[in-house]
This record gives sequence, C-alpha cells and structure tokens, in this order.
Amino acid sequence: MQNDRIHTIHAVASHRAESPMPAGRVSPDEFGCDVFGEQAIKKYLPKDVAQKLLATANSGAPLDPAIAADVARGMKEWAVDRGATHYTHWFMPLNGGTAEKHDAFLEPSAGGRAEFAFSGKNLVLGEPDASSFPSGGIRSTFEARGYTAWDPTSPAFIKRHANGATLCIPTAFCSFGGEALDRKTPLLRSIQALKKATTRLMRCFGLPDETVRVALGAEQEYFLIDRGFYLQRPDLVQTGRTLFGAPPPKHQQLEDHYFGAIRPRILKFMQEAEEELWRLGIPAKTRHNEAAPAQFELAPVFEELNLAVDHNMLVMEVLRQAAERNGLVCLMHEKPFAGVNGSGKHNNWSLSYGRRNLLDPGDDPEQNSIFLTVLCAVVRAIDLHADLLRTTTAGAGNDCRLGGNEAPPAVVSVFLGDQLGEVVSALAHGTRGGARKAGTLRVGVDTLPPLPRDAADRNRTSTFAFTGNKFEFRQPGASQPCAAANMFLNVMVADSFDRFAEQLEGLPPEKFNETLQALLRRVFRTHERVIFNGDGYSAGWAAEAEARALPNLRATPEAVAPLLAKENQALVAKYGVLSKREMDSRHEVALEEYARKVAIEGGIALEIAKSMIRPAVLESYGEAVATLSRASKGGIGSGTAGIRAHVEKLGAGLDALTERCTALESALAAADSTAIIAAMAAVRETVDALEHETDDARWPLPKYREMLFLY
Ligand code: ADP
Ligand code: MG
Repeated sequence: MQNDRIHTIHAVASHRAESPMPAGRVSPDEFGCDVFGEQAIKKYLPKDVAQKLLATANSGAPLDPAIAADVARGMKEWAVDRGATHYTHWFMPLNGGTAEKHDAFLEPSAGGRAEFAFSGKNLVLGEPDASSFPSGGIRSTFEARGYTAWDPTSPAFIKRHANGATLCIPTAFCSFGGEALDRKTPLLRSIQALKKATTRLMRCFGLPDETVRVALGAEQEYFLIDRGFYLQRPDLVQTGRTLFGAPPPKHQQLEDHYFGAIRPRILKFMQEAEEELWRLGIPAKTRHNEAAPAQFELAPVFEELNLAVDHNMLVMEVLRQAAERNGLVCLMHEKPFAGVNGSGKHNNWSLSYGRRNLLDPGDDPEQNSIFLTVLCAVVRAIDLHADLLRTTTAGAGNDCRLGGNEAPPAVVSVFLGDQLGEVVSALAHGTRGGARKAGTLRVGVDTLPPLPRDAADRNRTSTFAFTGNKFEFRQPGASQPCAAANMFLNVMVADSFDRFAEQLEGLPPEKFNETLQALLRRVFRTHERVIFNGDGYSAGWAAEAEARALPNLRATPEAVAPLLAKENQALVAKYGVLSKREMDSRHEVALEEYARKVAIEGGIALEIAKSMIRPAVLESYGEAVATLSRASKGGIGSGTAGIRAHVEKLGAGLDALTERCTALESALAAADSTAIIAAMAAVRETVDALEHETDDARWPLPKYREMLFLY
C-alpha cells in the first residue's frame, strides 16, 4: 500500500502539462497580443465606440453604458479569433487569490445548432454564487449572491492552456448592497480619492489641471524547487512552507547565489514565463538569482497602479504554472525555508501629474518645492497612520518573515538618505546644513542641492524608503496581493494633501512661498520621528523605535487590530474607500484566515511528526538496540559504548518527540494560535535534531541540502 502511494506521488511528480505556446520566439510586436488593448480595440470596435472605451480606459472618463453591447461583440470576435471558447469575470476575493468561473460562448440556437454569443450584459455584470468566499460577516450564506462588475480600466486578456483559451474580464466584486467583497473595489475608490486630492493640491501651486497617475512597480521574489521533492513534503503541499528541516552546513553564507549565473533549467522556465507575460502585456523586465539558494526575483516595468495590481496577480499565476510545466514548483510563501532569506514583494509607488513625477526632486525651484511638499505629505501620512499600513502586511506567512534579520522590521519608518535627510532637517529646524547650505533653502525660490540617486544611497533595511523618484515599501510579503497596501497608502496621502490644500488655498501669490515654508517646517517637525536613516536590522532600532513611540506590531492579531481603530475607520470612510462595516469585515477575515492557517500548520506538523518522523527514528533506534544486544551477547566490547550513546540519544529524542507532540495536540484542541506556534517550534526543534541522528536512508522528508541545491 505504502509503495503504491509513493509510486503515485512519483508519477504525479513526472507529469508535465504541455506549454500552450512554444517559447523562444516572441518579438516586441507580440507584446500584449493576448490583451484587448488599444490596437485590438481600434481593430474590432466601431470608431466612436473605440474612442469612448479608450477615453475611459486611459483617463478614467465615466463609461457610456450604451456602448456595452458593441464592446461585447467586438471583444468576443477578437477573443474567438485568438482561440477562446470561454469567458470569465476575473476578480480578487478576500482569500488572497483570484477567482474565475468559466462560461462557454456557446449558445444553442434553433434547429439543434449552436453559435458563439456574448452580450453587453454578460460583459458588464456577473452573478457568481459567492457563498464560499470570505466576507467577514457582510454576506451570509443564505443571501449568497455576489456581483461582479466590469472594470474597463484594466483590459480584458486571454489565458491559454494547451487545448484552448479563455477570455478573462477584470471585475470588481461586491455584495447585493454594494459592499466591497474584494480587493479591487476599494483600490479603485482610493485611486479616485488620491487623484482628486492631488489635483486640489496642484491647483494651489497654480498648475493647470492634468491627468494624475498613481504608479506601482512590484518586485516579485520566489523560490523554485523540484516538483519531486515538493510532493514528498506534505508540509509544503499543505502550507507552502517547510515546518521541519535542519539547516544544512552550507546555505547562503557564501553569498554565491545572489546575482549568480542563472542555471539553464531555471532560465528555460524564466524565458517561458516571461514570454507568456509579454503576450499578456505585462512588461517583465528584470530577472535574477536572489540571496537565498533557489530564490529568484522578477521585476516588471512600473505601470498604472490598478493595472499593476492585476498584473502582479497574473505574474504569480504564470510563474506557478510555468514552474509546474518545467517539473518545478514555485513557492510564493514568505518564509518557505527557515534560516535563509524569506520572500517579499517590494512595492514601488509613485505619483505623477501630467508628465511630472511628483516624487522627482527636479532641478528648478518650482519642482523642488512641489517635491518637498509631496515628500512632507508622505512623511506625515506614514507617521500618522503607520499602524494602518502595517495591517496590510500582516498574515501567518509574513509573520515568519518580518523582523527576521534579512527582512524589514515590523516597525514602519521612512528612509530619506543622508542628503535629503539633511535638507528636511534644515527645513524643520532652520539649521544651516554646512557646506550644502540647506539651512538657507527658501522653498519656491532656491534650488535643492543635487541629491544622489544611485544605489549607494539605498538602505535595504528600511521599511519605507525613498529611492530617488519613488517610495519603496518593503514589508509586503511575496504572496500578498498589492491592492491593500496601496489602497491605504493612497488614502493616507490624500488626507495629507487635503490638509495641506486647506492651508494653501486662496493665498495671495506673494504669501504662498512663505506659508508653504512654514507649513513644511511645522509638519516635518511634528513627524520627523518616523524618519530613520540607520540600520533597520540593528538590535538598537527596536529600542529606539519604542522610545520614539513608533508602533512595533509583530504578530498578525495585534498587527490587524488597527483596522478597528476609530481614527483609522473614520479616515478610510471619509474618502469613501471602506465603510466601518467593510473595515470590520476585513479585520474579521484577516483574523479568521490567520487562525485557520496556523491550525492547518499545527495539524500537518503533528501528522508528519507522528506518522513519518517517529517511525523512521524508531527503525534506527530498533536497529541500534538490536545491534547493541547482539554485540553484548557475543561478548564484543568495542563499539558498544558508542552504540549505547547513540541509542540513548535517539531514545531521548523519541521521548521528547512524544511529549512535545502531546503539547501540540493540546494546543490544537484549544485552538490557541499562539500556543500552536510555540508547540510547533518545540516539535520542530526535536525533529531537526533527530534529522542528524537518524539513518539518512530512512529519513522520510527531502532535506534542505537537497531541496535548495538539487535542481
Ligand atoms: P531595485 O534596486 O530595488 O531592484 P529597480 O531599479 O530594479 O530597483 O526598480 C524596482 C522597481 O521599481 C521596478 O519594478 C521599476 O519599474 C519600479 N520603478 C522605477 N521607477 C518607478 C516609479 N517612478 N514609480 C514606480 N515604480 C518605479
Ligand atoms: Mg529589488
């Protein structure tokens, strides 16, 4: 029986899905060929319809509902020409992934025939049975209907498999009462809010109205291991991370993986994944080996925020699928292997107004003063609402990563770098910045000293770092959708902008610079405690952060609590992004998911320890005991002391294992997450010690030195 099962696992390991497209021949012309973007729209839609749709897609003009039927017709024709037989509304429920329910275009018609059909209503609105998605109490199962509504600002695209293709329509997902049940709805609301506040603030600077764009570049880290190893690790299959595994003598200490030559098997996978991404219009740009063995990164060129969030979900999916086709598994968990680096998703955020990046320091007094104002607004936002931003990076997986020595700490602080830090400090305190004369900087009149933009000035240990012309938020975990962090960031910054605008609006021109200078001075003074240019990994920082009264929320239950805080709820509701009920529901969803994930981890850890580890250790133990007994009977003295010591060690390990498994069982029975985590750590300690004492041939789990190096 056992062998049949193992054989089947091996058979699954060797299964390969066919690639939908041959890799290795994509030209730039094919970029976005599977996207219903500008070219396809112009080709398949009547001119006036195309114009209206593009106006909505490109500059957010309200959609004319009258064009839906025409758009649907053209979109279907295009999709069918590209091989699609089915369509789906594609959305982001609160379970951390994406959802899709396919419908065939096929419609039976008279005379036993059939045709492909797709109506305006099919495009605009969907009604999936949504009873099993998390809603945090907003929608009970008996009123299970949820609605998906077309988001014309994120273009429809085609997902391929070896035997066909599906048209995917990005949608928002909400309840009958219009409450958000997804990540896109509030993100879109927050983008609107920030655009409005940005326009208001820019008018204070006397600028004409221009298009506001929020941009995101999400760097994606991940691990790859051979699928054969993966399938022999029930912990990886069930939880995405290894719950056991002794650290190998060589892990990442030689720093020989980072930016190393990429192995051919991995490159083949990367090429295939990237070409698929290019066809989906996703500008995958950079690929490299990351710090940990078997760890890699993909970075796209930044795009408009809503699109970039959708694209990151697709990036994760494409990476997973391409890995499987190549006999690999892509692990997106934040800490799949203890003792080596975890995986994050650096969130590069910026804001532009017309052609002007508002986070570009620029080189003339006007741009300098706009830049400093926006910078000041962000610093204020982060200081006032660090706890709100932190809620978006909570989760059982990221808890294993944040606060480790290779990941940013749980404290949110802003890094500005030395030069910019000096400018800000001079603005706040009027001190003379030495040779740089920053102290004499008059906003709107003088120019900023040249600020360095090279990598040398970057601080990898900071949670929220200014990196030349954007802010990089480094807390988000590799598996986490980008929507939540950016949604709150947008709201927080919009609030700062509005506060600033209130003080700058209607000023006579000759008063403007002086008022702005005083405003920046006051705000930087009030909020400079959140600026930290030192080493975020240092032991001293936690203590200093505490002295500065910066929140340090380490574990998910405390990290998500600020979703319930009155001020936070009032702020988010004021901008119409999430109502109190929606915030409450997100808190509930986060806590529930956390408790469930921890319970799953505890459950599978217990099963592995008892049903896989213990029998293996027992066999080694039994064999050693038998050898010892035979040797003693035969009157052989030499060697018995060593065998006896070995037997004692294994025996003590078995006793500890039994005791610690019992403790884990109780913690699981009590459904106490903190106790489960502690009990799991204790079981792991025993198991990892036994790994080195047990016969290698009997050890049932692939080892770290195998998974991380053999591929
Ligand atoms: P790193 O050294 O952190 O890897 P990169 O230069 O590779 O930095 O850029 C990381 C990400 O930041 C990329 O996705 C890139 O497109 C994005 N990025 C660059 N400029 C901006 C910007 N102005 N706004 C948003 N994202 C940006
Ligand atoms: Mg990077």
